[in-house]
Amino acid sequence: MIVDAADFGRSPVISAIGDSGRPPWSIGGASVRLVIVSPHCDDAAFALGGMLSTLGPEACGTVVTCFSRSDYAWESHSPSVETVTATRMAEDHAWVRRLALVSRARVTVAHLGLDDAPLRLGLRGAGLYMSAMPLSQVPVARTIAAALATLATDGAMLIAPLGIGGHVDHLVARRAVEMCAGDTARTLYYEDQPYAARAPRQVRRATRGYRLASRTRFSPAAKADLLRCYPSQIDAREIDAIVRYAVHVFLRRHPGRVRTFDHPWAQDTAAPALTAVERLWRQQPPRRHRISGCR
Ligand SMILES: [Zn+2]
Repeated sequence: MIVDAADFGRSPVISAIGDSGRPPWSIGGASVRLVIVSPHCDDAAFALGGMLSTLGPEACGTVVTCFSRSDYAWESHSPSVETVTATRMAEDHAWVRRLALVSRARVTVAHLGLDDAPLRLGLRGAGLYMSAMPLSQVPVARTIAAALATLATDGAMLIAPLGIGGHVDHLVARRAVEMCAGDTARTLYYEDQPYAARAPRQVRRATRGYRLASRTRFSPAAKADLLRCYPSQIDAREIDAIVRYAVHVFLRRHPGRVRTFDHPWAQDTAAPALTAVERLWRQQPPRRHRISGCR
């Protein structure tokens, strides 16, 4: 059975399960097709790998990687576009295969083949991070929105980056989802990584005006395992930071277990007993204002 994304949040069953630790679309045998928008190869895995690892066979999803053409690899000494692009796409495919071993969900990846910001705009380093998407990027957002429109059919739910960190490609991907969805009922937002882990205060700022839609629990070790599928983009220190962030999000709701968090989770034999969480957010519907004196 498919639950139309427009129903998400209206059903008391679905809206009541946000804290159950299960994804909101896999209760009672009902499922929603997910279209997860990943600005680059790796973003969906970094932000949502834990959640996706918990999905059952009733779930299916497509990860749409927008800017899959790139010359960025942190350890690369020969950053040819073709070599790096092939490496990064291969990492995405390795992640999907790994995911298939730990989850029974059907997840696929679609690479749109667009140039990332360093190739498209000639930007590097700090120049990639902005407070808002420049108007010059509207056409590329439209291109992505058109691709999403062909994929997000039959009430599929779109899952977009919040844009935490302000990477211009993340802002473009988010705008594309909003162009495609046209309303908020079909869209949920994830916390961009590693930016959320680096600056948790930005998460608080970015989610003002949003409601928590779900908190999905999973094993930190499972998330770390999936993150290791991206050796060209992430090192052990950053993997640790992202997993710690996910554990921290869980522990803030369970302060009695904070002491356990003091141990390095990766070496701790008790690590499998720890729990990590990934959150999804939904925009608050606009408030209706009552005008006094009018009937
Ligand atoms: Zn990214």
